[in-house]
Amino acid sequence: MENFDKEHLWHPYTSTTKPLPTFKVKSAQGIYIELEDGRKLIDGMSSWWAAIHGYNHPVLNKAATEQINKMSHVMFGGLTHSPAIELGKLLLSIVPKSLTKIFYCDSGSVSVEVALKMAVQYWYAQGKTQKCNLVTIRSGYHGDTWNAMSVCDPITGMHSIFEGALPKRFFVHSPNCRFGDKWNNTDITELQNCIEKNRDTLAALILEPIVQGAGGMRFYHPQFLKEARRLCTENNILLITDEIATGFGRTGKLFACEHAGIEPDIMCIGKALTGGYLTMAATLASDQVADTISSNYPGVFMHGPTFMGNPLACAIAIASISLLLNSNWEENVRRIESQLKQELHPAASFPQVADVRVLGAIGVIEMKKEVNMEKIQQQFVDAGVWVRPFGKLVYIMPPFIIRPEQLSFLTNALLNIINSKPQ
Ligand code: PMP
Repeated sequence: MENFDKEHLWHPYTSTTKPLPTFKVKSAQGIYIELEDGRKLIDGMSSWWAAIHGYNHPVLNKAATEQINKMSHVMFGGLTHSPAIELGKLLLSIVPKSLTKIFYCDSGSVSVEVALKMAVQYWYAQGKTQKCNLVTIRSGYHGDTWNAMSVCDPITGMHSIFEGALPKRFFVHSPNCRFGDKWNNTDITELQNCIEKNRDTLAALILEPIVQGAGGMRFYHPQFLKEARRLCTENNILLITDEIATGFGRTGKLFACEHAGIEPDIMCIGKALTGGYLTMAATLASDQVADTISSNYPGVFMHGPTFMGNPLACAIAIASISLLLNSNWEENVRRIESQLKQELHPAASFPQVADVRVLGAIGVIEMKKEVNMEKIQQQFVDAGVWVRPFGKLVYIMPPFIIRPEQLSFLTNALLNIINSKPQ
């Protein structure tokens, strides 16, 4: 039976003929992931940005249990329920004020698909059917579904394989000015030129605000986002911000667009929305976008997933957001940030390291060469931590509840392993 996983289950980005090893998890509690063999690993990944409160949290468990005893799911077509309504109220109290309409959906990628469809349908509703293309910045990542993939970085993304079948988008260089550096106005020139030249065929600009995640773990200057907002407004194209990874405090602000003091027309959230318990995402839109779509032919927004507004996920999301808002999350993230800065800094002088960067509760060590995933993964597990690098990037984004000594254990393991030979 132990081979079943290897022989039959596809894991993310893996081969069926040469699968990378997997580690079997028995349970997870707080910041620990417990393996079947009894080893406990300190979690450095928050299960890909999601488990901000750690695992098996009593408050989230209670919310899930109470809701499941009432109903796990009912269709959202023609029906509604308190979990969806209460979550909506809570979301509107924390997202940028211009976002007033909420479309619940099943995953981050789907919320991006929904956002792109909204943008296209917004212009369609005004008879501007030629305004249906998209512009984005390189090194981005927006998900694995078809149109989300079309706006992922063309090199680190999957364009080479799917090129013939993917719609062609406009790409400009990703911001050079890093977060915390001096702003250089030339950084926006290429985006400005592209938007001004193609405004008649562009529906929207989509980007990850401030932190580009899976496309390179880059942190860029808030002024870039400010300028991008200005360009969208001046040239009549919508701004879509993908806050799926950055939302709910990870960068030190509740939403990363707050670093630039801007508001998008459409925003995607997911991942930490349910504290990592269930797959759920949402696309939020301004009145302008939602009402324009709705007051013109065909008079409805053309999307409606089976599990839209899933009550169980909504109930857990309410509990997770409330838990976050009632915790000292800002202080926690700031504490994690300063500890990461201090403890990861020595890696900057290692000959094999190209760069070390930290923002909020995200710490990145960029190596000069790609790491050997299989070996380094085993080394991390042997050291008692769960870290999952990709390419040249060894990075951590622990649950916000991690204590200083646990974080030190994690950063120590990280430095020891990247400094050992071979990776
Ligand atoms: N956008 C961003 C910025 C992401 O980080 C991700 C997930 N890594 C997605 C979209 C896609 O989300 P999901 O995996 O839930 O489809």
